[in-house]
Amino acid sequence: MKQKQNLRCSYCGSPAVLKPAAEVFQDPKQKGYVYVCSHYPVCDAYVGVHPGTKLPMGSLANAALRKKRILAHQAFDQIWKQGVMSRKQAYYWLSDKLGTDPAHTHIAMFGEYLCDQVICESRKVLANKRNIASAA
Ligand SMILES: [Zn+2]
Repeated sequence: MKQKQNLRCSYCGSPAVLKPAAEVFQDPKQKGYVYVCSHYPVCDAYVGVHPGTKLPMGSLANAALRKKRILAHQAFDQIWKQGVMSRKQAYYWLSDKLGTDPAHTHIAMFGEYLCDQVICESRKVLANKRNIASAA
């Protein structure tokens, strides 16, 4: 297993602790590990790990941000799922739109503002694609 990392909660500043997801969520069906704020559940911030590793998927997120990241990913993924661009091109396009470094353009690292931008820009591209399709 890869080495675990030292993360801090961006909401309350407490160190995050690596725990089995089944223990944190009190659900034996949950697999893998999560980095959870040491003040959880008072502070509701956590992030999952990449499967089979102890590497965090991104920064710790509270419920509102977790929801927003899911929505941002759903909107963005449609761009490459619908074949508007390849997945790689889509990430370059996104980093260009947001002005972020392509190497650090990961929705799992984004805060609410950037997630909103992802949703907005992705919807524009998808709306354009539909217009082109209906004009043809
Ligand atoms: Zn916290």
